[in-house]
Amino acid sequence: MQSITILGATGSIGVSTLDVLARHADKYTVYALTAHSKVEQLAAQCVQFRPQRAVVGTADAAQRLAALLREHDVRCDVSYGEQALCEVAAAADTVMAAIVGAAGLAPALAAARAGKKILLANKEALVMSGQLFMDAVQQHGATLLPIDSEHNAIFQSLPQSYARSPHGAGVAKILLTASGGPFLTRAVATLDEVTPEEACKHPNWVMGRKISVDSATMMNKGLEVIEAHWLFGAPASQIEVVIHPQSVIHSMVSYVDGSVLAQLGNPDMRTPIAHALAFPERIASGVAQLDLTTIGTLQFEKPDLARFPCLALAFEALEAGGTAPALLNAANEIAVEAFLDHRIGFRDIDRVIARVMHENAHGAASSIAAVMAQDGIARGAARAIVAAIAR
Ligand code: NAD
Ligand code: MG
Repeated sequence: MQSITILGATGSIGVSTLDVLARHADKYTVYALTAHSKVEQLAAQCVQFRPQRAVVGTADAAQRLAALLREHDVRCDVSYGEQALCEVAAAADTVMAAIVGAAGLAPALAAARAGKKILLANKEALVMSGQLFMDAVQQHGATLLPIDSEHNAIFQSLPQSYARSPHGAGVAKILLTASGGPFLTRAVATLDEVTPEEACKHPNWVMGRKISVDSATMMNKGLEVIEAHWLFGAPASQIEVVIHPQSVIHSMVSYVDGSVLAQLGNPDMRTPIAHALAFPERIASGVAQLDLTTIGTLQFEKPDLARFPCLALAFEALEAGGTAPALLNAANEIAVEAFLDHRIGFRDIDRVIARVMHENAHGAASSIAAVMAQDGIARGAARAIVAAIAR
């Protein structure tokens, strides 16, 4: 039996993970479930999966969760806050890191330092702390498996002995596919009028609101370029983004001999989740088998950086190195939140990020404290810009 902690159990990835686990109760037990504020949903998950521990964001939420669990006669230790998240991340065999944003960094790092098997969905953690995170994984003998569908596809398309460091494997390029999101063909001049509801309506994937907006700006792909850099040790020049609107090919690896290996599947996160849970074995995920004859056509095109300036900003941050990606990520989190709250327009997102990046110096990412300090500076700067332009 493998014990699992799910950080961010009430989110889109958390729910998909529980769906896969429910199909394999003979193999996995749930050790801990965590959520920020959705207490009722977390209580229902605890009733079904009977974890030993549950963690929420505040004392008030913890009280409400404990009361709900008593009503259902569920015995479960309830706690709250970052320290508790780090504890449950360090205590199970396997940790699904599926908190959204920078809040997921400390618990994911705690799992790495405890030498756990980490299924990493929380790309922001790796974008912020890249080298430090990878060093912690290596030093403590942790196992890092990518959940992001693109990185999971790349992992599957690399020879197993090279999957964590493809240097020497004959890789010419990593080809990250991108759907292009809901605004791939919308007139650029009208992008300023886009509403949060339109931005969150992804053509192929159902996801949390923050990553949905990131997909619409293509910052998601930008964060994924940085994520691929750290996961696979590839320089920016070796990572290419290819628009593929059908989201059937989840990414590819192009080799020096001209071969290109890809992983295909229906766009459903239960496939990479099941892959990483069972690795190196395979288990059923509940996802229907891919029927290529029904899909019929697969298309590809180059991304238009004028339409998607966030993608260019992410490449810029990766090239700049140090704490520049932390600056990019924090500015993006604040800008996306302001957009979702109807305080700024869609195109203001890239304007805010560009200003934060160009008006604030970055430094060496020498410690987590340095990264968090840069994150704080970027958030402050982004909030000030948002306040000045808010409508
Ligand atoms: P979501 O918004 O649906 O869920 C986020 C989860 O994090 C929730 O359980 C929430 O309670 C928790 N959370 C939010 N803020 C928190 C905080 N401050 N402290 C503690 N917990 C907090 O998000 P999602 O779509 O499931 O995405 C989760 C992560 O996975 C993101 O980093 C995203 O980029 C990544 N990811 C998601 C998908 C997808 O298909 N949804 C695909 C690839 C990668
Ligand atoms: Mg992805």
